[in-house]
Amino acid sequence: MLFGSVEAGGTKFVCAVGNENYQIQDKTTIPTTTPTKTMKQVVSYFKQFQIDAISIASFGPIEIRKTAPNYGYITKTPKKGWQNTDIVGMLKQEINVPIFFTTDVNGSAYGEYIMSLLSNEDINSLVYYTIGTGVGGGAIVNGKLIGSLGHPEMGHVLVKRHPDDLEFDGICPFHSDCLEGLISGPTFEARTGKKGIDVPLSDHVWDIMSYYAAQAALQTTLILRPDKIIFGGGVTSEKFLEKVRKDFNQMLNGYIAVPDLSKYISMPAIVDNGSATVGNFALAKRILKELN
Ligand code: ZN
Repeated sequence: MLFGSVEAGGTKFVCAVGNENYQIQDKTTIPTTTPTKTMKQVVSYFKQFQIDAISIASFGPIEIRKTAPNYGYITKTPKKGWQNTDIVGMLKQEINVPIFFTTDVNGSAYGEYIMSLLSNEDINSLVYYTIGTGVGGGAIVNGKLIGSLGHPEMGHVLVKRHPDDLEFDGICPFHSDCLEGLISGPTFEARTGKKGIDVPLSDHVWDIMSYYAAQAALQTTLILRPDKIIFGGGVTSEKFLEKVRKDFNQMLNGYIAVPDLSKYISMPAIVDNGSATVGNFALAKRILKELN
């Protein structure tokens, strides 16, 4: 059997074909231009293979409720030209196989969950945050994705402001200083005029970033009590997470027991941003199984 993975991002679509053991058989990258152009390339890529099911993990917000008239759409995205795009419909029209549709971070969370099962880690639940161009979070609880009215939007929660950051307004177009508005990649330029990659980890701005990321981890811990919290995305590094663990430890202040922080708050186990691809293969396999 062959499964298709579409990781739909704001700059590129990573498409891959994998087998039942979630191993990549082929992979390609398609630039995110207009919906028509990009989806045309996605379709012709998958037409080269005998695909049994596909899973799409997309940037959002997206409509994932099967009963909604706009199920399968990318909805209110700030990404120009992509508002109200029927991404599932465009694929389904050309390739008639079962399609699973979820957020990029849910896909990544599921991939990390599958990987933990494969490595015999004793895990039922985890949360995956990405800190990159945007900020988002996906959660697996007892092996399942969560949310009934829609998918979680953990990237837009409100956080307590760092005392040295009160003059920064934040950059979220909807909430200004929500988590995304304070720690997404573009906040480096907004605060310092420099790209994040050019800001050394010794710069105080990283302490501010860590303070907010640690609050996200704290709230996640208190609300969901997951087995593990993973941080991925371009802004994250092991050195940054060392800061986050320290802040988290101070904020939690021994209130409840959590695992060894180096394991509890960690980088993705799947390297090279591959979590969503593995997650997609597994979700495609799952949807096929559920239908048969
Ligand atoms: Zn926001």
